[in-house]
Amino acid sequence: MLLPHLREELCKQHLELPRQGLVTWTSGNISVLDDESGLMVIKPSGLMFEELTPESMVVLDLDGKVVEGKYKPSSDTATHAYIYRHMPHVRSIIHTHSAYATAWAANNREIPCILTAMADEFGGPIPCGGFALIGGEEIGKEVVKTLTGHRSPAVILKNHGVFTIGESIKKALKAAVMCEDVAKTVHLAYQLGNPEKLEQQDIDKLYDRYTHVYGQK
Ligand SMILES: [Zn+2]
Repeated sequence: MLLPHLREELCKQHLELPRQGLVTWTSGNISVLDDESGLMVIKPSGLMFEELTPESMVVLDLDGKVVEGKYKPSSDTATHAYIYRHMPHVRSIIHTHSAYATAWAANNREIPCILTAMADEFGGPIPCGGFALIGGEEIGKEVVKTLTGHRSPAVILKNHGVFTIGESIKKALKAAVMCEDVAKTVHLAYQLGNPEKLEQQDIDKLYDRYTHVYGQK
């Protein structure tokens, strides 16, 4: 079996999506890219999260051709492959319809940067990309177009949901969890009043500190 460690890791991390309240039923998926072979591993289409096993994961090349797998790959496979082909630093991609972030997306509104936690993790607002139908490369094009030149590892897409990118599954997962968390808090803040956006110079300072100084060496 190809890429057993990545299959195992991917299976394990998929369980975090329901655990973190980011997905319902079978929606949502994670993929990971293998540096050495250039192959990606992704969730099979339509399986419940608790049914997933390392063996059920699907291995594909970046043209979307299945290399190994007994199931059909996620219906978002073309999107994941397009992002890997056009954003070479990305090693993992996560897609969810998490409720609060998707509510912003349904309104075609970026999530404004009114929290220091947003400046830290996203370096500004979480941008909203345009509408695209599932199936081909249109969604991937919107993700790449919106995130290119942006600090945010998360994007919401109009009328759809969330895509996050990372150098590892864990980083992409963190972005997905934090995106939903701040989407909720910012929503609540607007219910209470009219919160002020952070100044760009403060966002820059916070982002720099969080990126370079925060945490353990
Ligand atoms: Zn979706």
